This record gives sequence, C-alpha cells and structure tokens, in this order.
Amino acid sequence: MPAYVDPHIHMVSRTTDDYKRMALAGCVMISEPAFWAGFDRSGPEGFRDYFRQLIGFERQRASLYGIDHQTWLCINAKEAENVALAREVIAMIPEFLGEPGVLGIGEIGLNKNTRNEATVFLDHLDLAARTDELILIHTPHLADKYQGTRMILDMLRGDGRLHPERVCVDHVEEHTIRLALDAGHWVGMTLYPTSKCTPARAADLVEMYGTERIMINSAGDWGHSDPLAVPEFMFEMRSRDHDEKTIRTLVYDNPLSFFGQCHRFRYKPRATVAAEHRLPEPSVG
Ligand SMILES: [Zn+2]
Repeated sequence: MPAYVDPHIHMVSRTTDDYKRMALAGCVMISEPAFWAGFDRSGPEGFRDYFRQLIGFERQRASLYGIDHQTWLCINAKEAENVALAREVIAMIPEFLGEPGVLGIGEIGLNKNTRNEATVFLDHLDLAARTDELILIHTPHLADKYQGTRMILDMLRGDGRLHPERVCVDHVEEHTIRLALDAGHWVGMTLYPTSKCTPARAADLVEMYGTERIMINSAGDWGHSDPLAVPEFMFEMRSRDHDEKTIRTLVYDNPLSFFGQCHRFRYKPRATVAAEHRLPEPSVG
C-alpha cells in the first residue's frame, strides 16, 4: 500500500477510529496547524495549553498508529479581531519553536479580510521572518477567497525578508492557484465535502498545472470533513490512469520536500527503521 502524508488536518478534533482508518489507508505523517476551536478561547493561557496538547499529547497519540505528527503554531484569523490577545499569543510562540515536530507558523491568514486580521497576519509574518520559520497560510472561504488571497500575496511580497518557497498558500481553488504558484509559493488543495475542492476538481487542477509545489490535504476538523480525503484523491488519480510516481510526488514527496526546509524536521520512513534493526545475515560456513 503506497504511503501518503496529509499535510493539513486537525487531529485534536478526530477520534482514534480516524487515526486507525488513516493508518490502514497508508497515512504515515500528518501536519496539524493551530486553528479555531469552534469558540473563542478566553485568554492566552488557553493557547498555551493548546500548543502543549499539539506538541505533546497529540504527537504521542498519532505515534500509536505509526503516524508521524508535525505541528504549526499561531492564533487563527478567526480570533484576530482581539489584537491585544493575538499579540500576547504571538509573543508566547517562541517558547515552543524549539520543540520537535514544530514546522513553523500556521495556519495564519485572513477570514473576513478585515483590518485587524491584516494587522495580526503581518505580526505573524514578522515573527516568522525574525525566527526563520516556515509559514502555512489559510486563505478565506467562498466569496472572500479571491480578494483575501490577493491581499495575502501582497503582504507576503511586501516583506523582503521572506522567501516565497518557504510559504505554503493553502485551500487554493481554480481562481487562486495560479496567483500563488506564480508568486513562487507552494500551494495546498483542500478536499472538503461541502466547499473548497473535491477529489475530481483537484485532479483536474493537477492535469492543468502539473505536480510542482502542489500538495493535497483533507483539512479534517470538528466540522463535516473527511479524514480519508487524500486516499480519495489517490483513487481518483488512479481511475484516470495517472501513474503511481505522479501520485506519490503529490501526496508524499512534495510534503516531505516542503517540510524538509524546516531545520528541525526529521523523518525516518518505517521501512528504513526496520532495515536498521534487522538482524545481520548469518555468515555462510
Ligand atoms: Zn485548517
């Protein structure tokens, strides 16, 4: 069974059954961006506990299913209207940046494209530039997506310290993928049952844009979403006669290449680990 990575999924909201089904479908690694809990947290300590959960308990929970767990830290755009709180959280993030499994700052971005969201987004960019961290970006939903993506790309371009290839612009669709790729960024296509992309639309986009700097994710969370969306995409690609190498590039090699730019990132595929622990061949005679 081919291995795959889901580079965007919120496992704190998912069950052990999900972990097991993902492992059975070939999932070997996930990356989990910090996001909105479904309600606004009451203060900075709520975020401290959430970061500890991501870095500690959730990473351990994933490992029980043979899945490597990586994390991104931030305060989500949905909570950015409280700029004072956001600044307290951003000031706390460096405490956690040295921890194993932390890939960088994310998922930051815009939600309703407001002034306060832009202020907090720029503060996150400044933190990432000062600490030399990778960036994962959430682009807004539906009607706000095109305008929000343009605002985000302008703000990224405006900070000369940032390297485009160290930024992934997530939740791209037909009308935003080219903007992000042309700016030199990685992109994520999110396969969602109700909005964003479907497996078929993502496969169409791959047929139009190729495989370079493109990743596929489920963005599974506490709402209606599908933690097996990446294998659904692999199935769609096979049904269109795409070869296994192309599929592997999108769902395995590309996420590892993007994550590999983080100086803390370490990953040993299980096959390699097993080979290292294999007993030596018995000597002949
Ligand atoms: Zn997300």
